[in-house]
Amino acid sequence: NTAANVRIRHICAIGAGYVGGPTAAIIALHNPNVKVTVIDRDERRIKSWKGRHLPIHEPGLERIVRLARDGTSDSLGTMSEQHRDFPTEQAQAGSDRNPSSRPNLFFSTACAETIANSDMILLAVNTPTKMHGVGAGRATDMAAIEGAVRDIALHAKPGTILVEKSTVPCKTGQLIKDILGVYQPGVMFPILSNPEFLSEGTAVRDLLQPDRVIIGCESTLSGHRAAAALANLYAGWIPRSNILPSNIWSADLCKLAANAVLAQRISSINSISAICERTGADVSEVARSIGMDSRIGPQFLKAGLGFGGSCFPKDIASLTYLAESLGLPEVASYWQGVLIMNDFQRDRFARNVISCLNNTLRGKKITILGYAFKKNTGDARESPALGVLRILIQEQPRTIVIFDPLCNESDIKRELAVLDDCRGVVQTNGLIEIVTDPYLACADSNAILVLTDWDMFKNTKPATPDNFEATELPQLDGATPANFLRLPHRVERVTKLPSPPQ
Ligand code: NAD
Repeated sequence: NTAANVRIRHICAIGAGYVGGPTAAIIALHNPNVKVTVIDRDERRIKSWKGRHLPIHEPGLERIVRLARDGTSDSLGTMSEQHRDFPTEQAQAGSDRNPSSRPNLFFSTACAETIANSDMILLAVNTPTKMHGVGAGRATDMAAIEGAVRDIALHAKPGTILVEKSTVPCKTGQLIKDILGVYQPGVMFPILSNPEFLSEGTAVRDLLQPDRVIIGCESTLSGHRAAAALANLYAGWIPRSNILPSNIWSADLCKLAANAVLAQRISSINSISAICERTGADVSEVARSIGMDSRIGPQFLKAGLGFGGSCFPKDIASLTYLAESLGLPEVASYWQGVLIMNDFQRDRFARNVISCLNNTLRGKKITILGYAFKKNTGDARESPALGVLRILIQEQPRTIVIFDPLCNESDIKRELAVLDDCRGVVQTNGLIEIVTDPYLACADSNAILVLTDWDMFKNTKPATPDNFEATELPQLDGATPANFLRLPHRVERVTKLPSPPQ
């Protein structure tokens, strides 16, 4: 038993985000004898994790956090029905009481002290892409990893197990070792690579029933012992057969490769949708037929606006950069093609909208329903909507009004700040308005674009004002979720005008 010498009493997760928070909560719930503390430098985020309103929206998460954090979910009177109805979590959590009834999940900004008291540290900090770069790929910005590892180097006790949960470039373990070696030369810290595969919107289900958990370790006795200790924590709810040991660099690469392949499927079907529009073929019929091939399967074959969010675009950019830096330009350009197709899809959609509105948006109101990068999340990072907006604002509409049921205004505004690049071409000040009432958003609009496939927008036929009608944009047949809703009489009127000269 390689785990015999490693007893984990206290775990700390660095980074209270979409990965750190839910992962820590589920580990805590299923390991009642282990104390789990999530730390972050962001005081506001930690305050929300401690309070009634969690900083992130994930179906089922509130109950799990309360069970582990408070020992009970009795205080859930105010919880939304959406959370209450989440089946997987109810089945797994079993009751409304933590098995030990003793809270073992904590949130804190006391980083140094928590790190010093931990036997295992999960690194769940953000790893965005650098905004600049040479060549096709863009490197991962390692600032948060470096900062967190420096804190570990300064405060962790020897032998503390470090687990990379963040998505990182292959061989990040070596970088971590190098930093640790500067501060604590000769001290041994086992490093594991245990990338997280959860998707936003289904994080709880993905964590409770993962397809697999990969634990990569160095081929040393301490590496194998550390891996066994982590596997034991997961074994509290995951079958051993789904926990895969691997070499540490394979584990790093597994995550980038998995996201790249998923994104590639989306770009593949989107490329087919472009051909469908020119030929009269129906992309949903083609996708259905492809998906029924047992060698291919139906997942990730829905044509639409392409992928967004904080993972796919950056992970492909990182893979492309990795290939370039390894002297593999052909591999780099292969993966870069996936990103090119993704951008093309948004461009195509935006240009179709403009063309449908008689090739001019001047004086017109455009409504955008949905800003989140996909449904069931409030995450506005790298939303496909941004790519569409970038083109629409160049056409100088009178106003663009955005409604999303979950994204908050400040998050959307932070993302829209990149549109300031367009200053000089167009005045963006006051052009875009974010509202909380979908009907107000749609009132007197010339075009209503559904850019996130929220269920509430499906078959939308708002009763007021006037008679809205949900219609698919003809040129984007089948390219849902980017449906196009229009006021028929208004479109009628503008289509009778002559097209402006090109
Ligand atoms: P996030 O931005 O939501 O959260 C990261 C948190 O880390 C932030 O709150 C930040 O303040 C904190 N942080 C950064 N440096 C710190 C430090 N030195 N000390 C303490 N706190 C620090 O990020 P996320 O979406 O949870 O993603 C985390 C990692 O997991 C990324 O590498 C991401 O690629 C990967 N990942 C994300 C998802 C997802 O769906 N969001 C899924 C799988 C993997």
